[in-house]
This record gives sequence, C-alpha cells and structure tokens, in this order.
Amino acid sequence: MNFRAIMQEAGVPPAAAHVTSGLEAHTPIDGSTLTYVPVDSPAAIESKIRASAEAFLTWRTVPAPVRGEMLRRFARRVRRDKQALGRLISLETGKILSEGLGEVQEVIDICDFAVGQSRQLYGLTIASERPGHHLLERWHPLGPVGVITAFNFPMAVWAWNAALALVCGDTVLWKPSEKTPLCALALHRILNEVMGDFPPAHPGISQLIIGRREAGEQLADHAAVPLISATGSTAMGRALGPRVAARFGRTLLELGGNNAAIVTPSADLALSLRAIVFAAAGTAGQRCTSLRRLIVHRTLAAQMKPMLRRAYASLPIGSPLERETLVGPLIDAGAFVRMQSALAAAREAGATVTGGERTVPPGLEGGYYVRPALVEAEQPFESMREETFAPILYIVPYDSFDEAIALQNEVRQGLSSAIFTTNMLEAESFLSATGSDCGIANVNTGPSGAEIGGAFGGEKETGGGRESGSDSWKVYMRRQTQTVNYSSAMPLAQGVQFPVE
Ligand code: NAD
Repeated sequence: MNFRAIMQEAGVPPAAAHVTSGLEAHTPIDGSTLTYVPVDSPAAIESKIRASAEAFLTWRTVPAPVRGEMLRRFARRVRRDKQALGRLISLETGKILSEGLGEVQEVIDICDFAVGQSRQLYGLTIASERPGHHLLERWHPLGPVGVITAFNFPMAVWAWNAALALVCGDTVLWKPSEKTPLCALALHRILNEVMGDFPPAHPGISQLIIGRREAGEQLADHAAVPLISATGSTAMGRALGPRVAARFGRTLLELGGNNAAIVTPSADLALSLRAIVFAAAGTAGQRCTSLRRLIVHRTLAAQMKPMLRRAYASLPIGSPLERETLVGPLIDAGAFVRMQSALAAAREAGATVTGGERTVPPGLEGGYYVRPALVEAEQPFESMREETFAPILYIVPYDSFDEAIALQNEVRQGLSSAIFTTNMLEAESFLSATGSDCGIANVNTGPSGAEIGGAFGGEKETGGGRESGSDSWKVYMRRQTQTVNYSSAMPLAQGVQFPVE
C-alpha cells in the first residue's frame, strides 16, 4: 500500500497534504517526506489556551457519566478505524503493524476504562470530631490540561491522559511530538467529529497544538493550564518541570527509562528468551519500557548468550508494513548516530558488541534500519547507565541475588523492571520493599507491554508521574475537603473556645 493511501484512509486532513511549508512529517520507513503540517503561531496557541479555558467553564458542569458517553462514542469510532490508524502509526513511527494496531487498541481500552471511571469519581466521607458535623472529600474538575507527547506512542499516550482528563471534566490541549503530527491530526479529527455530534461537548474542550519544543514551553508557562502532563526524555522533564513549578502548576512527568531484567538460575530459559527478545529488540528498542540491561546469573551466562545471539541474528528486519517484519527502522538519523556512539563507548569500555550495524532493506535506502545489538560486559560502565533510545541490550553477570538487585537499582532511572525465576523467595524479594525500585516490577514477563488497568510510570529520573489505570484519575482533579455543620451549635475543632456574644 502506498504511503499517501495510508494517510488518506486514516483520515489525515487533506489540507495537510497540500501545504509545502511548516512542520515536515516524514516516514522512517524510507526517510521520505510525507507532507508538511502548518505550525501554530504563539498567538494561535494563546487563543487555543483561552478557548480551552472558556470551554472548561461549561464542560465541568456536564455530568461525568455524560462526559463518559462522549468517550464511549469516540472509542466506537476508533474501533471502526483501527486498521487504518494502526497503519498510520507504522508509517509515521516505523513500529511494526502488529504494534501499531496494539497501540490503537490501547486507545480503545483506556476509553473503555474512562467510561467506567466516569461513574466512579469517588470521594470519601470522614467522621468528624464535632457533634452535628460531617466531613467530605470531593473531587472537582481541575481545568485545561496540557498534554505533551513523545514520538514513540503517538496516539496511546495522549489517550491515556485525555480520556481520563475529559471524564474528570477537564479540557485538553495536546502538543504532540514534532516527529508524529499526522497521527495526532488523524486521531484528533475523529474526536472532533464525535464532539460535533454530541451537543454537551462544547467546541474547544479538546485542542491540538502543532509545534516544536517552544509550543510545549508556551503551555508550560501558561497560568491558565493547571496541569502539564509531559511524556518524553529526562532532559525534557528537567527543563520543563522547573518552569511549571515556578508558577506553582502541577506536572505529571513520564520520562526516560533504563529497564533491567534479572535471570536467575531457576528461570525457564525458553520463556525468558522470548520475553527478553521482544522487550529488547521489539519496537527497535524505542519504548520507554524497552529492556536495556540483562543481569544474568554467572552460571547461566555461557548458555544464554549464544541463545540470544542466535535469536538476534534471525530477527527479520525491514518495512514495518510487511507482515513478517519484527524489527522496523529507527525514527531518524539522529537516533542512529546516538546508537553508534553508545556502541563505540561500549567497545571503549572493553565490552564485546554483536550486531548494531546498519542494514538496508532493498528500496528503503533512506531509512535507518539496524541489527539489534548485544553488548557483553563483565561489569556496568558509565554509558550503560544512560538511556540510548535504540535496540542495545547490555548483558552483565551476577553472583549473588543481592548483587543482582543492586545492579538493577543502580541507574538514575526507575521505570520498569523484571525478574525471571521460578524460585518464590526470589520473586517475592524482588517485589518487596528491598527489591526493585521501579514503578513497574514484573515476574516472568518482560518489562515492556503494560496493560492500561495499572498505574503507569516510574521513579527517580523517570519523573514520578502515574497515568492510565488504578487511581491515576485523581491527578486530573482537585481535591476538596468539606465540613458541614448540620446542628445549631458552633463547636470548634480541637476543643478551641471562642465565645462570641
Ligand atoms: P523528547 O523529549 O525529545 O520530546 C517529547 C516531547 O516534548 C515532544 O513533544 C517535544 O516537542 C517536547 N519537548 C521537548 N523539550 C521540551 C521543553 N523543554 N519544553 C516543553 N516541551 C518540550 O522525547 P522523544 O524523543 O519524542 O521520545 C523519546 C523519549 O520519551 C525517551 O526518553 C522515552 O523513554 C520517553 N518516553 C517516556 C514514556 C513514559 O511513559 N515514561 C513514554 C514514552 C516515551
């Protein structure tokens, strides 16, 4: 299927196909330019923020289950267009079609979740110490929420945020990655169409802002936006966090990971291998939860390394739109350069590198395809502690379980982690307070591929944010503690006396 047909079927607005300046949308499949997308000027962004604030005044009064109904309708449309949207994700990010479709499924799943959540924005009743009084804790809509997203999940991350924010009564301003504007245009167009047929939805409750870093900064600095949910690199979070904090705004930060898996002597090796190869080489290593460090018991290392080398050598690399492909391209030349410099640093540190070279599928000379790399080292070295957003799997041996946990936790990031073991004591220790220090800890399944039902996010330089499932909805609301006196007396808390005649 040709690229233009994929764009058309996914409903990329035709206007974008005729512009010849602005943001360049390209496909990593062959590096070609797909189209140009007009960029929002600072004045246009300002007016979108104002429109969002205006729309919030009415959207917050729409009953939450009615807001949920809009998400139900949106999910129905996305279900209908799943194939086309999945292909567009593959086209614009280079992830294989099965993962593109999986990402669209995540959009559907979080909308379903949000529909249920719309009837469960539960508060608390609290016993009062004063007679004739009761205390309540209630959750109210917060306001316009700025959602800044990364290139590697160009639809799902917005949906994780927007679906919950919208049922919570907030309005949403979405600033997608400058590398994936078409996915944003296509998905947002569907939402606009659904809102158009749903009168309680005020135009303006969801706004799309096309731009680069500066557009994100404008959102970050704006006092009318009480919450910025930003997904991207730790460098981005480090720059953005203090800007929002300077005006006492809130942030939900979902930043870089450097995820490890421990393989213990009791592990089921065949199962571990399948999970490891998907987590490390899948999505060409471009998931925040991609497996980057493998910590293998020394007695297993000699057996595991050849198994991994064989599996890596047989991975089909090519166009993500071809059914048999398992590894698509890197997003761009910059990603390739960063991968090569990480591999050079590994060689310099004395590690053995297998793979990592560029491969050129016929006809796709402009794409940056690489053979996923294995880096074998005796101990960790500095560049292994960085997140390189590419398929590099560092392998280090360990001797004692405590050493394995220490290796797992020694990096600055704290997103996802896994252990492969059939030893219950090891599994439980890994999940305990003295085990993994990450936001996500898995047993006998890899660190990537989270479900939407759990809260998603990580500790340390991953930013501390939680979004998607569990009680993440609370981030998008403001909490109010209420005291009601239903007596004719006026007792004060803590027994304070203040007699007024
Ligand atoms: P990036 O940091 O380059 O860009 C992410 C977004 O932030 C883009 O929309 C960009 O325009 C914007 N941005 C960049 N600098 C900004 C600034 N100073 N102020 C405001 N906005 C700014 O990230 P990327 O290359 O698109 O994505 C890859 C990174 O994202 C990886 O580090 C990956 O681990 C991370 N990521 C994290 C999660 C998570 O949930 N923890 C999920 C996906 C991706």
